[in-house]
Amino acid sequence: MPDTIFKKIINKEIPANIAYEDDLCIAFHDVQPKAPVHVLLIPKQEIENVAALTENDRDVAGHLLVKVHEVAELLDLENGYRIVANCGADGGQSVDHLHFHILGGRALGWPPG
Ligand code: 5GP
Repeated sequence: MPDTIFKKIINKEIPANIAYEDDLCIAFHDVQPKAPVHVLLIPKQEIENVAALTENDRDVAGHLLVKVHEVAELLDLENGYRIVANCGADGGQSVDHLHFHILGGRALGWPPG
């Protein structure tokens, strides 16, 4: 399987505007932002999506959820934000590496399309 675009970002093979990084995860600004602030938070471990998570991934999954708010604070999203994890074809997932969209910077509509 060829590396996904996100794996190349993790490996610093292609550039990204990185907002946060630690041993387990990395957050970078989306190249096609859907809101004034649009960051993708991803595990460094290759996990396809939420549906692929197993009991063995508890630590990394918990780490990601805990880091969501820390990244949101770094991005000055004190008025609130939304996290989205598109999963599979009907979910609109286009990159097969687990990622949380962190969207904010304006009042967001609901429901999504
Ligand atoms: P999905 O559609 O899988 O939920 O989200 C994938 C996201 O990755 C999209 O919002 C898309 O704009 C973003 N994306 C795709 N390729 C790149 C890239 O090369 N760099 C960055 N920063 N974002 C990307």
